[in-house]
Amino acid sequence: MISCSDFMAEIGNYLEGDLAAEVRVQLENHLAHCQICHVVVDSTRKTLQIVTDTGSFDLPETVSKPITERVMARIREAKR
Ligand SMILES: [Zn+2]
Repeated sequence: MISCSDFMAEIGNYLEGDLAAEVRVQLENHLAHCQICHVVVDSTRKTLQIVTDTGSFDLPETVSKPITERVMARIREAKR
């Protein structure tokens, strides 16, 4: 079983679908049992959607990636 901090370390990759299949399975198993991470994934996904939707164009990878990282950094700070 992975821990919440393991999950948080991979959440950016998880949301971007940038994971090995076996890692994704582990994260999804954790997500199924952990309400905290479930909420974090949910709100992060919504935040990213809002950020992306308010742009009048599709954000290129180079722009959207730092946004993910900024959201992640904020979550990590909130957890401290
Ligand atoms: Zn968790």
